[in-house]
Amino acid sequence: MVEATNFIEQIINEELESGKVNDVYTRFPPEPNGYLHIGHAKSLCINFGIKEKYNGKCNLFFDDTNPSKEKTEFVDAIKQDIKWLGFSWDKETYASDFFEKIYEFALTLIKKGKAFVCDMSPEEISKNRGTLTEAGKESPWRNRSIEENLALFEDMKNGKFKDGEKCLRAKIDMASPNVNMRDPVIYRILRATHHRTGDKWCIYPMYDYAHPICDYLQGVSHSICTLEFEDHRPLYDWVGIELGFNPKPRQIEFARLNVTNLVMSKRYLKKLVEDGSVDGWDDPRMPTLAGIRNRGIPADALKDFCSRIGVCKANSEVQISYLEACVRENLNLNAERAMGVLNPLKLTITNYPENQTEELDFEINPNEEEKRTRKIKFGKTVYIDRDDFSLDPPPKYKRLKLEGMVRLKSAYIIRCDEVVKDENGEVIELLCTYFPESKSGADNSGLKCKGVIQWVEENSAVDIEIRKYGYLLNDEEYAGQDFGERMNKESVSIYQGKVEPYLMQAEFGAPFQLLRTGYFKLLNVKDKTVLSEIVSLKDNFNK
Ligand code: ATP
Ligand code: MG
Repeated sequence: MVEATNFIEQIINEELESGKVNDVYTRFPPEPNGYLHIGHAKSLCINFGIKEKYNGKCNLFFDDTNPSKEKTEFVDAIKQDIKWLGFSWDKETYASDFFEKIYEFALTLIKKGKAFVCDMSPEEISKNRGTLTEAGKESPWRNRSIEENLALFEDMKNGKFKDGEKCLRAKIDMASPNVNMRDPVIYRILRATHHRTGDKWCIYPMYDYAHPICDYLQGVSHSICTLEFEDHRPLYDWVGIELGFNPKPRQIEFARLNVTNLVMSKRYLKKLVEDGSVDGWDDPRMPTLAGIRNRGIPADALKDFCSRIGVCKANSEVQISYLEACVRENLNLNAERAMGVLNPLKLTITNYPENQTEELDFEINPNEEEKRTRKIKFGKTVYIDRDDFSLDPPPKYKRLKLEGMVRLKSAYIIRCDEVVKDENGEVIELLCTYFPESKSGADNSGLKCKGVIQWVEENSAVDIEIRKYGYLLNDEEYAGQDFGERMNKESVSIYQGKVEPYLMQAEFGAPFQLLRTGYFKLLNVKDKTVLSEIVSLKDNFNK
């Protein structure tokens, strides 16, 4: 028996032990009406995690019972995202594969006197549904004969009625305390072209009715879904019992993943894409899997995040800094280091020989067990980051100041002797002295200096646009506020930076740590190659 790490696995273990279940079978059930987001990643990790742990199976089940919103574009994108996470499904199934069977099961319910054709409009039905404290009203069509119901349902299927003119309802209990059990609609008339069945059907089953049937027909043992379906479970079970499913799949609910500063609603994400607030579904600021992948977040870091936050029964919100910590931890171990500056400031070493350059050793990643180095070019003029120099430094300032010393990473200790200003008084160049005997790895200068800063050599440096990102949503939230009002209008910061040429020769899109700055990757944005932030180096949360 495997060790359970959450309540779902505990349930599975108990069922395996008691013999109620022999083979564990799950499914991931997206509706192909948008791109997957980080919340779906959580559901994927649970469903495919169970498959892997119990040597079971997991299908990719497209819930395409709602024909008007579904598109093949989304089906393809969903598959690509799941593969990126490293999961492989057993069968690819669609609710529409089962439309014929779902229809036949409706006939079974009618014949059992458990379903009836109702002439009330959707508005009337909802008006008569009652409230949480008041029972609903029975439909005047509830007691039609089985023959009449069969004939009318056939007519519904054959297109004899207008959309919404009739529907098929389960006959359960209008006085049930659970509103979902008050004779729910199980089939509606809808003339819409379905992305797979075309115009074959003009009646479509409702999700709550179709879902248990699809699960059963696929051999699903555990139908895992989010908490908002808890109140639908009695209906899920009712369908299974009335139709005599054996073994009957079991629905288990868990809490949705919510992350601060991120929107998880497909509807809202779609709006951002459509109104041009972002550059498409895969914009690196988007919480879609396509966006996360484009951002450069490794699939393993995302899976690690999902596993660390665990599976809960109560809704809660996870800090986005927790996700970032997982990404940083992964990249800290796996990303190569490189030199680059966001805001270049020229620094000339006055006592360095004219026309001389050197190849210095640079450590590829200090976390590697077997240290590897590569060569990096050094010369008389380099660029440092403007933020690493101050004319008016605070006490204990470790970076460069006038008459102060600092080490240029992997190179030499330098001292700033003089600044050059432009006509506006802005510092445009630093004139410095270097100490040849302070070379990194062979320092016998006896000089002491605490600060170490990154730099790039002037002649070999590559000019590149560097992008850093803020969150799409501001964190403060007040009642009645919609996402539009929480939108962060300045979620991209653009720098004209300089980087060492090595970055441009590496595999396109590989992650790099720009020393003391953050993790970045090359990205094509429209027709430009930019250096795009994956995650900053500093943990803003713990600061
Ligand atoms: P949305 O509200 O964004 O449209 P959805 O639930 O309608 O999401 P589906 O395509 O129906 O999206 O979801 C597929 C599966 O992913 C379902 O089992 C659903 O419960 C799960 N899922 C969706 N969002 C989350 C989330 N935030 N956390 C965990 N699981 C989620
Ligand atoms: Mg849904």
